[in-house]
Amino acid sequence: MGISHTLWANPVDYLRATGPFDPVLFLSPAALQAQARRFLAGFPGLVTYAVKANPEEAVITNLATAGIAGFDVASPEEIALIRRLVPGATLHYNNPVRARHEIVFAVGHDVASYSVDSLGELEKLFAVVPQQRTGGEGVEITARFKLPVAGATYDFGTKFGATEALAAELLRRIAAAGYVPSLTFHPGTQCIDPAAWESYIRAAGRIAAAAGVRPARLNVGGGFPSHRVAGVVPALEAIFARIKAVTAEVFGTDAPALVCEPGRALVADAFAALARVKALRDAGNGAEGDGAAHVFLNDGIYGAFAELPLMGAMDRVAVFSPEGVARDGAPVPRVVFGPTCDSVDRMPGAVMLPGDIAEGDFVLVQGMGAYSVVTNTRFNGFGALGVQVVAALEP
Ligand SMILES: *Cc1c(COP(=O)(O)O)cnc(C)c1O
Repeated sequence: MGISHTLWANPVDYLRATGPFDPVLFLSPAALQAQARRFLAGFPGLVTYAVKANPEEAVITNLATAGIAGFDVASPEEIALIRRLVPGATLHYNNPVRARHEIVFAVGHDVASYSVDSLGELEKLFAVVPQQRTGGEGVEITARFKLPVAGATYDFGTKFGATEALAAELLRRIAAAGYVPSLTFHPGTQCIDPAAWESYIRAAGRIAAAAGVRPARLNVGGGFPSHRVAGVVPALEAIFARIKAVTAEVFGTDAPALVCEPGRALVADAFAALARVKALRDAGNGAEGDGAAHVFLNDGIYGAFAELPLMGAMDRVAVFSPEGVARDGAPVPRVVFGPTCDSVDRMPGAVMLPGDIAEGDFVLVQGMGAYSVVTNTRFNGFGALGVQVVAALEP
């Protein structure tokens, strides 16, 4: 990977000029900065970026340029990356399980906040983390709690998060030990329904009351939706308004300051993915599907489309000839495979593609910036994924 310094007008301009044989992700810095400003203007608190969604240097620097000054990091590697690219940034280390040497590394890099969901991990923090940062500000520890909530595409609660009773105990001990006591949760990912946040905020109120501790801040996690499916446009402002209203209702005038840590919703729609048609084959070799002709692409679930088996298909798709002319045949359902020899390497379901699609064509998928560059593999010798910068993502 690595980003070229040429700025292309749009993905079709690029494919026409270069006819790439390897898959490409296109970044629009303008779209990325606009989305960052939408969060900064709309979210009623501090906006931090969950680095794991896409740690490309151009992503980090463009977010910083747009005004994002806080980053949710999960490892020493991510801490070092942000300290190098945005030296003055505020770091929140919100992976609740850490080896002792990772905690020592974080302290050495002036991490401002740590999340925790177990008593054993809290004791590890107490043993290593001072109550004050190098500049004298208090170090924050957030108790991460979970709820059995429907609404996310998949459930994060099975791995991390304390029960309400344990979270209250953690919050009490954090305050008693002289750290800044706060609460956090992460509702899942691609949560379309504002209710996903509401039940957690109500639980935060119960936990604070049970602990007898006023949390300084409430971090409402990530999970904000991106524009995956053409007909489902994310209603971010409605989610922001619900978070603000429920926090005021639950905590009154003494409400904790709000923090969020979106990954997907900041980056996904700032990228488009380009894959090339290697082959078209007749149906009938027994692959699961609907008898549709099979399309083989040069990228799949071991590449930029890694998330699709978990998250479902995407339909913001256009097809172009090698000359850059949009295919406009009536859409036909296709079984779409990736390039590896693994039979799970296929897009979920049937993908509607123009009936006149041909070998050598390019398939452009919008909304591909999250969990794509960073989870790309070189399995079977594929995955030579390039990143190019464009002025606009649509031709
Ligand atoms: C992954 C993660 C995020 C970002 O999630 P998105 O769905 O990409 O917004 C935020 N916070 C935590 C703790 C995470 O693990």
